[in-house]
Amino acid sequence: MTYQSGRQFLQIPGPTNIPERVLRAIAAPVLDHRGPEFARLAAEVLARIKPIFKTSQPVLIFPASGTGAWEAALVNTLSPGDKVLGFDSGQFALLWTNMARKLGLEVETLATDWRRAPDPALIEAALAEDREKKIKAVLLVHNETANGCMTRVAEIRQAMDRVRHPALLLVDTISSLGSADFRMDEWGVDVAIGGSQKGLMLPAGLAFCAVSEKALAASKQAKLPRSYWDWDAYMGSNFPYTPACNLLFGLKEALNLINAEGLENIFVRHARHAEATRRAIIGWGLEIVCAEPKDYSRSITAAFMPEGHSADAFRKQVFERFNMPLGGGLGRLADKAFRIGHLGDTNDLMLGGALFGVEMGLAAAKIPHKSGGVQAALNYLADQSGSATRLAAE
Ligand SMILES: *Cc1c(COP(=O)(O)O)cnc(C)c1O
Repeated sequence: MTYQSGRQFLQIPGPTNIPERVLRAIAAPVLDHRGPEFARLAAEVLARIKPIFKTSQPVLIFPASGTGAWEAALVNTLSPGDKVLGFDSGQFALLWTNMARKLGLEVETLATDWRRAPDPALIEAALAEDREKKIKAVLLVHNETANGCMTRVAEIRQAMDRVRHPALLLVDTISSLGSADFRMDEWGVDVAIGGSQKGLMLPAGLAFCAVSEKALAASKQAKLPRSYWDWDAYMGSNFPYTPACNLLFGLKEALNLINAEGLENIFVRHARHAEATRRAIIGWGLEIVCAEPKDYSRSITAAFMPEGHSADAFRKQVFERFNMPLGGGLGRLADKAFRIGHLGDTNDLMLGGALFGVEMGLAAAKIPHKSGGVQAALNYLADQSGSATRLAAE
């Protein structure tokens, strides 16, 4: 047995650090899932998850990772051969369109250079061109975890409305829910998809679909085969199969923590940490993958390695020497970029430790860089005079 003293810094963009109080809640004895105590727990978490999505509509909870909710959103609302508009804007957006193809949907894809979020104007143009209204759904990833670009969902909703396109708006909020503002009802989102192991500070194993009336109506007509994911079964009994009971104990406690801190305060905290991380990256003389400041993510920041240096070799050194896993580049960013997750149960000192580890790692791995990234982040985080919090709240 080997032992590395001290805590591991888990700085990947999910799974995230689980608060002790949530871990202890999960460790409680399991309940009879058809008994009265579970019924009370179920009613409570199903009601209390709604404000996290900023919705008054039903939220379904599946025992699954987030990917399951992707599938649930598609198979419940669409029919074989239906056309959907998807994006090649990052690894997660791409994987979702691949799933849509595997399920027998026709996918029209709009591409980006993976350094910015989907452009509302391009979506508007694609929908305007679809005069016969063949596109039945738009598949957006709110926060692209692979490159740290955040989609402006409200603007895309407005673009859809301008061209009066009836397509459903399906939005993956897996790595933004509980970290960055998301307003299901106000933004006219038809299905919002969540997962437990990112901003909600839980282990993987709960997947969420928040479902609008329009999506529910579409599900009555949709013909894609579905069984495990069938919303009907969930609408009838909430938890038609054995629920992940202990994760729901954890969810209840996580919601207590979120309420105690305040959802809007949590958004400000995430925005501050994102800004501090970007200042560190710029201080090191590295390049932020997201090229559009208006698209910056609140929960994850990706940075390019300088040409000729392996991001994976760098991450390996940081992990082995400092016991800090960092996110790797995914898909076409593989080995070219590394990702710092700054979401979930974190604070200024945890972020500071992570940035300290990156700066030490850059030196240890002899990556050409400037020192001073940590200092830049420290200066920003230390400034409570208002500018930091104001900037963060924007
Ligand atoms: C993590 C993530 C997923 C995948 O979720 P799993 O829980 O791993 O199935 C999908 N989309 C986004 C944006 C993610 O960050």
